[in-house]
Amino acid sequence: MAQSVDLLVLHAHLLTMQGNGVGYLRDGALAVRGDSLVDVGRSSELAQRYQATETLDATNCAVMPGLVDVHMHTVYAIVRGVAQDVSNWMQKGLAPFARHMDAEAARAGTRLNIVEAMQAGTTTMGDFVRPYPGWGECYAEAGVRACLTPTINALPPGGMAGLELGDLYPLDEKAGRESIAAALAICDRWQGAEDGRITTMLGPQGTDMIGLEQLLEVARIAEERGLMLHVHVAQGDREIDQMVKRYGQRTPAFLADNKLLNDRLLAVHLTEATDEETDLIAESGAPMALCSGSIGIIDGIVPPARRFREKGGIVGLGSDQASGNNCNNIFNEMKLTALFNKIKYRDPQVMPAWEVLRMGTIEGARAMGLGDRIGSLEVGKQADLIVVDVNTANILPIIDAPVRTLVPNLIYAGTGKEVQTMVVAGRIVMRDREILTLSESKVRAEAQHQAELIGERVSQDPLHRELALLSAMQAGQL
Ligand SMILES: [Zn+2]
Repeated sequence: MAQSVDLLVLHAHLLTMQGNGVGYLRDGALAVRGDSLVDVGRSSELAQRYQATETLDATNCAVMPGLVDVHMHTVYAIVRGVAQDVSNWMQKGLAPFARHMDAEAARAGTRLNIVEAMQAGTTTMGDFVRPYPGWGECYAEAGVRACLTPTINALPPGGMAGLELGDLYPLDEKAGRESIAAALAICDRWQGAEDGRITTMLGPQGTDMIGLEQLLEVARIAEERGLMLHVHVAQGDREIDQMVKRYGQRTPAFLADNKLLNDRLLAVHLTEATDEETDLIAESGAPMALCSGSIGIIDGIVPPARRFREKGGIVGLGSDQASGNNCNNIFNEMKLTALFNKIKYRDPQVMPAWEVLRMGTIEGARAMGLGDRIGSLEVGKQADLIVVDVNTANILPIIDAPVRTLVPNLIYAGTGKEVQTMVVAGRIVMRDREILTLSESKVRAEAQHQAELIGERVSQDPLHRELALLSAMQAGQL
């Protein structure tokens, strides 16, 4: 007699991501009970074995694990486009806007980013944000998986706006204390919430933005609570300059000397890491968050992910912030990662399609410490999956012999718009591109409204005269 399940997905080009490749299964099927996968196999067998409450016919579709975005700053979706194409994106692009962001604008940004990411197939979002009221609720409501990292730093109110390049950041012990307390409140509320769908990390923004004593205190608390640290590491010449001025040491050596370099540290960017520093971090077991689009646009640099992987390190992909990367789409990151590295090394064999797909799924999950729960379609794992229409003019044709074209076409021709349906923890949260858990049109309208309000506030702030893009504006280039 057939066993009952909640959901059966049939007739898919199944990319399970099991094993060391993409784990392809022709005419593949999945059975879901509750929040978990209970069977993965051939359609002919699973259709016999199970009676389902709901059946999804995935003919002409690829079905794969939901994409994992290990590093985002969702609030900055509200200032998408204010900080690209300039030499000092943070102080002369983002900072004059960021200081006028209130909780409503932040929430509108997070929601906009969640909609954008869902519609491009991202089911797990690693969000690094200065906490504001209602942040975690955005994810609870949307039904996606989130890892919340509340930003910790000891920068005084007003942040870095107004500082000249090369000025040592003023660190404020009291601001650090408040920021740690606010972060711990988020972890208390959200770690393991929504049946484990929401988890947390502790995020010292950068080793240059908090004093050593408080940094070590945060590390100690993270260890006590079993949380990972999520830190920007060697993220720019600004940071290295600050570290050398303050400690006489570059960031990777500083982390190693303070015993912070291990598999519980998610190291973001490594933009400025030398070969030796890259090896040091990879060999320590600390995973890397690679943000190809963001670092390409704001710094013009390809981070050392290839070398990091050659040294045995785990690399996940992050879309970072929309003020500079302009989009939060892992399809985009997979393609850019493959492309940028081929160009950097002048070798088309570097970072093939299957490899970046692994970074966008199973490796991203491992980088976040969630590899035993998500990232591949395996019995016992969470049912986080996306159904991607491949019967589209940009992806067709798909042939199977003598070589299969599915994965290269998805990576180099896919845009994310082909994602039709999304399941997170066994629940359908998007169907035929309609998000079922929130109103997309309301999210879009609110984002536009809040962005216009910020624009007005920044225009009235004399600091806006420092915006690097003003000259392009005046020259009729924007
Ligand atoms: Zn970041």
